[in-house]
Amino acid sequence: MRFELNEILNIGEKNGFAIPAFNVYTMENVLGVMNAAQETGSPVIFQMYSRLFGTQVGKFLAPVILEAINELKTPAAFHIDHGTGEDMVIRAIRYGATGAMIDASTLPLQENISKTKRVVEFATAAGISVEGELGHIGNTAEEISSEYTNVDDAVQYVEQTSVKALAIMVGTAHGKYKQTPKLAIDRIAQIHAATDAHLVLHGGSGVPDEQIKQAINAGIRKINFATDLAHAFIDGCRELDAKKYPLDVYLAHPTEKVKEFAISKIKLCGSDKY
Ligand SMILES: [Zn+2]
Repeated sequence: MRFELNEILNIGEKNGFAIPAFNVYTMENVLGVMNAAQETGSPVIFQMYSRLFGTQVGKFLAPVILEAINELKTPAAFHIDHGTGEDMVIRAIRYGATGAMIDASTLPLQENISKTKRVVEFATAAGISVEGELGHIGNTAEEISSEYTNVDDAVQYVEQTSVKALAIMVGTAHGKYKQTPKLAIDRIAQIHAATDAHLVLHGGSGVPDEQIKQAINAGIRKINFATDLAHAFIDGCRELDAKKYPLDVYLAHPTEKVKEFAISKIKLCGSDKY
């Protein structure tokens, strides 16, 4: 069932759980996530990295995602992750996205606000809502910053941009962690209390389950799982006999691995209780 980003995140807010967002690259990834949502009855978000919208992959995967959303009886959304600019967000909207992220988090506050605000204006005209990012969430290859998103800045950012979702820097990073991350749970709770935007946790792969649960209790409503989904798929491929040539048969196992992975994260988010 096709849901717009703010609508699907409202379900999380109402029920006190987070909606898992899975980054997909192939049809088998989409099928794995779709089957997980079907089995658990959970709302889910399918998302693709911004750069993919500029390639053949984005063009051909978008209809697959939309078909999966049509097939699902539970709420599902289609989102562009880390939108790099207006061009990619416009393309995502053209391909049927029901939510869009614009990531201007490396810019100073005022520039981030004005770039995000422009995207919110045209996305709103197209009937979808926007996720912004405030406080830069880096990569695990770098030192994890302890410059958490400032509460007052978050209030100002949400007020002036009208974003419906906000990715915050609270101790996570993208990729495989070298050391166990330590999330700033208090900061999540403070930002949740101070703004109406739905809070988003990036870099969910590799965060200990207990911290994920605390983050949800503190007000996180969307959690992104990208790295570990890719690993579930790749590991599934490696476990197979490479001589097996009917590819549908070959890819059934990694597709199943993605499904099992997605089910575990759905349960962790608590969205199976929907
Ligand atoms: Zn991210």
